[in-house]
Amino acid sequence: MLEPTDALTCGVCGGAAFTHRPVLWPALVSEWQLSPSEAAYVDRQQGTTCNRCGSNLRSIALANAIRAYLRQEGALREIAERRPPVSILEINQAGDLSAVLSRFEGHVLASYPEVDIHRLPYADGSFDLVVHSDTLEHVVNPIHALTECRRVLKRGGGLCFTVPIVVGRMTRSRSGLPLSYHGGPGTRADDYAVRTEFGADAWTLLMEAGFAAVTIHAVAYPAATAFLALKSK
Ligand SMILES: [Zn+2]
Repeated sequence: MLEPTDALTCGVCGGAAFTHRPVLWPALVSEWQLSPSEAAYVDRQQGTTCNRCGSNLRSIALANAIRAYLRQEGALREIAERRPPVSILEINQAGDLSAVLSRFEGHVLASYPEVDIHRLPYADGSFDLVVHSDTLEHVVNPIHALTECRRVLKRGGGLCFTVPIVVGRMTRSRSGLPLSYHGGPGTRADDYAVRTEFGADAWTLLMEAGFAAVTIHAVAYPAATAFLALKSK
């Protein structure tokens, strides 16, 4: 099914044509207590993809946040082809972006369970950029995790990430609620269990983690948003 593109451009490859395939399943919509319009935009975030490179809106929003940090011309793929010397820590594979990020000269991929975001095995001030995508909703202590991301950044470095956000409500913990999993219908792996449902106040966690400034990069708002948080210089 083709969707109107509303002049949307892919920040990963520069493409301008998109296709939508539904991805949310009924049990997840009900556990998450999404209204029909909320379910529609979350579905768009995950299921609307660039015809040329396959990135979904979530990855495109994240690419745009990374481009805002890098302040370089062109889509993220073109920037990566120039192999700029930017040290990037990618925590868990950032979906469609992983292949592009690995083109950067100073790229490191750290994956759970070998590397736990609550205890990153890197010295203070090691990276220009830290990137993760839809990871924070699964971790035990999101503020602690963000504080670790900040610790390993250089001064003036940036953290770029996505979490699924329902913009019409506030962040809530799922502790005490029935278990809910991402990944797909039938997924019951512990690392896919959702611990936090993020809402309009998601940016406040970044301030609590000590970041100096935050910008939000939206694609087809409210479908997809990504954060760029800066560590003070
Ligand atoms: Zn693309």
